[in-house]
Amino acid sequence: MNKELIDNRIVVKVGTSTLTHDSGEVNYQSFDKLARVLSDVANMGYEVILVSSGAIALGRCKLHLDKTPDQLRLKQAAAAIGQCELMHLYDKFFAEYGKTVGQILLASEDVERPDIKNNLVNTFNSLLELGVVPIVNENDSVSYAEIEAGNCGNKLFGDNDTLSAVVANLCSARLLVLFSDIEGLFDSDPRANEGARLYHEIKDITEDICRAAGGVGSDRSKGGMVTKLAAAKMNMDRGIDTIITNGQRLENLYDVLAGKPVGTLFVGKR
Ligand code: GLU
Repeated sequence: MNKELIDNRIVVKVGTSTLTHDSGEVNYQSFDKLARVLSDVANMGYEVILVSSGAIALGRCKLHLDKTPDQLRLKQAAAAIGQCELMHLYDKFFAEYGKTVGQILLASEDVERPDIKNNLVNTFNSLLELGVVPIVNENDSVSYAEIEAGNCGNKLFGDNDTLSAVVANLCSARLLVLFSDIEGLFDSDPRANEGARLYHEIKDITEDICRAAGGVGSDRSKGGMVTKLAAAKMNMDRGIDTIITNGQRLENLYDVLAGKPVGTLFVGKR
């Protein structure tokens, strides 16, 4: 563990599969519930940072495209359009519950340069002091290029699971909650194997656990279990707890905060 963590500070990450329906259209119920639960949790005294995907998917909706464009420049254009829509929806739903939101778009370079990193931490702290919910996404219109070209090299981001672990570390959060399209990490693929067993608590990421993480989830999600496991591992080494749970039940967050067993908990090293 490399620094003091802030006990009441949490990062919550939601993916595109939670924010849209299988049809690809916006899931307003998820937006509403997310805003309600996070606003309520903030009222309970927690400092909440939301990492949200969905820019490309919402851009695609707005442009009435029947699938995500293949061309990088169109994907980046969709992200530019969708990011506005994403923040419009968050602004509207959080306002219903008396909360103000602020947008932070990050590229991997931003956290690699100490001067910028320092300013970023100050911005997050100021927003939280003002009672604002910071909403973070990768700056897709700018940084997606490297990801698409497969030139990530030693770059940090490329998916919002990794980004959310970077944000948790940057903001010294105690806990990261990754809302997924599945209950947590199973010992085999529960979609293929009815007897698959959920891991409730993981203290060490062993080879068996890496093997269990398998491939990607739904065709609307980008990361899948592999990137969630990588995010959990980054956090564990820094003493931050990570929970993977199902985004279909966003109210699970109450049980998570009450310390009840929900999804899969990766215990941060103390
Ligand atoms: N930043 C992308 C978006 O907002 C999603 C990346 C991810 O889901 O990991 O569409």
